[in-house]
Amino acid sequence: MEPGNTPLVELRNMAPAGTRLFAKLEWHNPTGSVKDRPAWRMFHEDRAQGKFGKGEPLIEATSGNTGIGLARVALLEGNPMHICLPTSASEERRQLLRAYGANLINVEGGPNDAIAYARELVAAGEGHMCYQYGNPANPDSHEFGTALEIIRDWPLATPPDHFLCAYGTGGTITGNSRGLRKHWSDLAVHSVEEDLSDTIGGMRNQQDPFQPPVADLGLVKDRYVIGRAEAEAKVAETMKLEGHFVGTSSGAIIEAAQRELSTNGGTAVVLLPDAGWKYLSGNPWQ
Ligand code: PMP
Repeated sequence: MEPGNTPLVELRNMAPAGTRLFAKLEWHNPTGSVKDRPAWRMFHEDRAQGKFGKGEPLIEATSGNTGIGLARVALLEGNPMHICLPTSASEERRQLLRAYGANLINVEGGPNDAIAYARELVAAGEGHMCYQYGNPANPDSHEFGTALEIIRDWPLATPPDHFLCAYGTGGTITGNSRGLRKHWSDLAVHSVEEDLSDTIGGMRNQQDPFQPPVADLGLVKDRYVIGRAEAEAKVAETMKLEGHFVGTSSGAIIEAAQRELSTNGGTAVVLLPDAGWKYLSGNPWQ
């Protein structure tokens, strides 16, 4: 099954007074996250372009979600999958990756160390890397997928004023800002970033020394840097007020959207990357 066509719902109990907040629920993708979209597109485009062939091993550096999405496509298509994973990746992600048949390579440190190690393996001829940080199919999966779905499903007569999403590889924000702004030229795009000293899985900060080549932040208006405790508190609140069990980056995005709407009013649409299941082992909601 191809990813996409996830629900766009209103968060009726979380919009500040006089504003409206809508959310695209990306955990409705086949492996439970937004990253099924770029994983599917990178695999199929790279193979169509002859960058790897049938049965050839794939290598990827990922904090989890892209790897899970890629492992699923690789399993379906018969390619071995090697994942370089930073030690910070959660236990649930490791178990999921193994369940999807991937071989895990633990790399001491954070996501940037995992990228460096994966590059060494590719240089040694161990396999092909789709390389989510530099592959145009990553933002394209949003420009020609997610963004068109949001436009198609938007329920109000007037366009949204704001779009907010996390900044990780930059695929989501780059592709959606391109796709959405083609149709809604006045839409303000805002990035939600982790605090450099207080990381959130899957997210990045514009001050991080590594900026993914695929990221084009030229259309970003406001930046919101959200701490992990605020994000986790928002996850608990979203569960209570809306009945959605969102992941930690989604908590950060909802927090940022509420700040934006409180200050500037109007309507906002947010993209929520995954659900909370994979974060339970960290016990953030005890
Ligand atoms: N949140 C989570 C949980 C993620 O896995 C990712 C992907 N790294 C993001 C946010 C950010 O998305 P993107 O890589 O498209 O910037």
